[in-house]
Amino acid sequence: MPARILILDAIANNRIVLKVKMQSAQFDVDACANRADAERAMARNRPDLILMNVADPSQDHHAFCTALRNAPDTASIALIAMGISDTALARFAALDAGADDVLPRPIDDTLLLARIRSLLRVRSVGQELFLRESTSRALGFEDARQNFEMPAKIAFVSASPDVHAPIIDALSQDLRSPVTPIGMDVALGIETPKTAPDLLIIDASAIADDERKLFSFVSDLRSRIGTRLAAQLIIAPPNQPEVTALFLDLGADDAVSHGVSPAELTLRAKALIRRKQQHDQLRATVRSGLNAAITDPLTGLYNRRYLAPHLARMADQAAVSGREFAVMMLDIDHFKTINDAYGHAAGDMVLIGIADRLRENLRAIDLVARVGGEEFLVAMPRTSVRQAKLAADRLRRMVNNLPFALGTTQQPINVTISVGVAVSNDDVIAGPAVAQLCDNADQALYVAKSAGRNQVVMSKSAA
Ligand code: GH3
Ligand code: MG
Ligand code: MG
Repeated sequence: MPARILILDAIANNRIVLKVKMQSAQFDVDACANRADAERAMARNRPDLILMNVADPSQDHHAFCTALRNAPDTASIALIAMGISDTALARFAALDAGADDVLPRPIDDTLLLARIRSLLRVRSVGQELFLRESTSRALGFEDARQNFEMPAKIAFVSASPDVHAPIIDALSQDLRSPVTPIGMDVALGIETPKTAPDLLIIDASAIADDERKLFSFVSDLRSRIGTRLAAQLIIAPPNQPEVTALFLDLGADDAVSHGVSPAELTLRAKALIRRKQQHDQLRATVRSGLNAAITDPLTGLYNRRYLAPHLARMADQAAVSGREFAVMMLDIDHFKTINDAYGHAAGDMVLIGIADRLRENLRAIDLVARVGGEEFLVAMPRTSVRQAKLAADRLRRMVNNLPFALGTTQQPINVTISVGVAVSNDDVIAGPAVAQLCDNADQALYVAKSAGRNQVVMSKSAA
């Protein structure tokens, strides 16, 4: 679906010219003369980006910008202010009101389209993250929302940091964050997003010297694992809109002309940092949501949801390698009695203690999951019947031999487990056979229980 652009301009001729340009760039376009019309159009079709002529004296467009930014529904719509005279003050006022960028007339078409593409690109990342985060929240994995506060990590990339010393000082003071001057090689050497700056300010104002190198530098930063999430703000050479446009198309998030006021640079840097930190936060929420979806909160072990695809993958690998794999079902003996005698909290401590012992006494390639109240499943790839039996006996002893602490007020208690084990034969193993293998382990467990508990029983039938 093409992105939708809303043009707000009181002058009919401007509207028509801009609308034609945007349509020929394959955008869906609405064009309005005033705020009231614009609000109606937005209610009908929500735009992705607004091109607003803020120079119209009959309307307070800055107030409109601010209102759009402050309403949750419209806060993420990208906003380009146009039509103003190119003074530092006018630019600052528009950015301060919430515009993402300011393009004075006459507008350079190449730059305008590059700016639009760049803003829409960032916006679609934000939307995707927001969608995933709301899915996590809908599933019940809500994290406390953070406020996005500085300080941030900022790097100033320049061939000659001395020249920029005053700007660097002013920035670090206004942003209340250290701004570190670094060279291009250092920036390219950043290995992980953890050590990367939130924002890279890149001085490309002397680009004439080494044009190609800087272009590939910017796209390199965008593609490398370490720096691809860092925001990029380019200081472009003045009066070369086609150069600025290329930087934006190569992945820069924002660009200013050399000689821009420190106040404007700070404002733009702040906006980029805020968005970067928001995206980081959304990513973290999605990650922890996903983690919460596949683990058991009490023991930290994987749950059934994770187990099913994992077992299927293990079976696929076994089919390829021709090696057997084992499944164990473990169940705590008379756990109900433990709960009854010492309380539910003590029972929980035993569950946690058993989970720890299982985890510590298995190989890294083995998987332990909590599959029921006091039942665990261990899946062991590349494991023969003999090895599985040894491992199951070892786990049973690890539980049985050492009493479980129940805190400072109660004596440690003895706990035992029963284990049923099934090992795949080396025929090709398909999906249903994995379920059969688990059933066999379950039946072996049942036999262990009937035979008096605290023992390991091997299933006779292979899947
Ligand atoms: P058996 O030896 O036959 O396995 O007997 P059992 O008492 O262990 O088995 P039963 O299935 O009768 O009881 C299981 C108990 O586990 C009942 C339930 O209250 C308890 N339980 C299940 N989940 C939890 C939990 O998360 N915490 C605690 N403390 N208890 C739990
Ligand atoms: Mg049970
Ligand atoms: Mg039990």
